[in-house]
Amino acid sequence: MARYKDSVCRLCRRAGMKLFLKGDRCLGDKCSFDKRSFPPGQHGAARTRGKVSEYGTQLREKQKARWVYGVLEKQFRIYYGDAARKKGVKGENLFRALELRLDNVVFRSSFADSRSQARQLVVHNHVTVNGRKVNRPSFSVRKGDVIQIKEKSKKIENILQCAEKGKARGLPEWLDVDLADLQTRVVELPTQVDIQLNIDAQQIVELYSK
Ligand code: SF4
Repeated sequence: MARYKDSVCRLCRRAGMKLFLKGDRCLGDKCSFDKRSFPPGQHGAARTRGKVSEYGTQLREKQKARWVYGVLEKQFRIYYGDAARKKGVKGENLFRALELRLDNVVFRSSFADSRSQARQLVVHNHVTVNGRKVNRPSFSVRKGDVIQIKEKSKKIENILQCAEKGKARGLPEWLDVDLADLQTRVVELPTQVDIQLNIDAQQIVELYSK
């Protein structure tokens, strides 16, 4: 499975904002963006974030969305194509589809610290959907689906620690999460309000509408 392999902290510096890709590290004093918020590269510090063109802004919003959800370019275009064909607001359709990815739901349920950690759980067969093993991170869950950490995996220390932190952090309303049983049910489809990312979906729509 192809995926981005460079240091993910560089992505935050390129995006010009914290994308929260590394779990706890993002909240502590080891965050690279807090220390060096200028763009990466040899002359990054000398480069200023001057006026960005309209195209540059649209491109940056798209990249931010890709990096947050860990989706490659080609796959992201497919998500957009599907979102554009559906009824409703294209940007909202796009983000809803991204939110409904299985790795994202595992992350949002606080079974993992980051989406990349959630992806590992899925790939390594620790997750079931409606009682059936699913090891595809891009698997799209639906309203009513029950996502669960497999019985044998419920003792994994890292998962238990994440669930413990989830209690303090709060959980999304569109998911009914049972942190004691490491199970979550999709009770509603997520809306733009639920998603709460600092990304302008309309800029992405305009980019792809050219
Ligand atoms: Fe981004 Fe997190 Fe790395 Fe900070 S620690 S730069 S928020 S990925």
